[in-house]
Amino acid sequence: MTEKLYEGKAKILYTTDDPDILLTHFKDDATAFNAQKRGTIVEKGKMNCQITVALFQWLESKGIPTHLIKQSADDKILVKRVKIIPIEVVVRNIAAGSLCRQTGLEEGSKLPFPLVEFYFKNDELGDPLLTRDRLLILELATEEQLKQLQNLALSINQHLQEFFASCQITLVDFKLEFGLDKQGKVLLADEISPDTCRLWDQTEKDPQKRVMDKDRFRRDLGKVETAYQQVQKRVLEQLGSAKKGL
Ligand code: C5P
Repeated sequence: MTEKLYEGKAKILYTTDDPDILLTHFKDDATAFNAQKRGTIVEKGKMNCQITVALFQWLESKGIPTHLIKQSADDKILVKRVKIIPIEVVVRNIAAGSLCRQTGLEEGSKLPFPLVEFYFKNDELGDPLLTRDRLLILELATEEQLKQLQNLALSINQHLQEFFASCQITLVDFKLEFGLDKQGKVLLADEISPDTCRLWDQTEKDPQKRVMDKDRFRRDLGKVETAYQQVQKRVLEQLGSAKKGL
C-alpha cells in the first residue's frame, strides 16, 4: 500500500510496502520567496530527478553517504527512510542572494573560504539564519551532529565544485538537507538540483545570461527550462564520460 506521507513545495513523499523505504516524486511546481511566487517549470520534475540521481551517485562514489537507493521512474526515486534534521545547510563559494542583501557584499565576489551556514527549516518563521547556540538551544542537532554536518557540507562542496567545474559551471552556492537513519547515521537527503543551487555558466560572461538555476524563475529572467536542460545535459554527459574513465 502506497500512501502520501508529506507534500512539500517541490516534492511528494510516499510510503512503500517496505517501512524503511520511501518514494520521492519530483514535481514540476516551482515556488520562490517562501511560496509567495508560484509557477510551473515544464519537465522540471524529471530534470531535477535525473540531476539529483547523477550528483548523489557521484557523491556516493566519493564516500558521501546519501539516502538514495535508486531511480524508479523519470521523476521518482526510492530512498532510505530518514528523520530529516530541520536545518537547511547552505554552502557559499561566491557572494549572491541573501548574503549580499544582508551584508552588502557585492554579488559575484569570491569568498576567502567556503561559508557554511545553518538555517532553521521552518516555513512559518521564514527559514531564519541560526547561530550555533540558537541551534543547540532549539535542540535541532547535537554538537557532534553539528560537526558532522559542517564536515560533510565542506566535503560535498569540494566534490561538487570539482564536478561542476568539469561541466564548465561555477558552483556559487547551494542548500543541503540531512537525515538520520535507524542507526542514527547522518545521510545526505533531499535533492541537489538547479532548484537548490546557484550555477553560473562559465562560457557566458553576461551576469544574466550566465544564470542556469532557479534565479531565472525568481528574477523573471526567462528561458528557465532551457537553463535546467543545459545543466542536465552537461551533468549527464560529464558523468557518462567519468564512468567510462573508471
Ligand atoms: O536565498 P539564499 O541566497 O540564502 O540561498 C542560498 C542557496 O540556497 C541558493 O542556492 C538557494 O537556491 C538555496 N536555497 C534553497 N532552499 C531554501 C533557501 C535557499 O534551496 N529554502
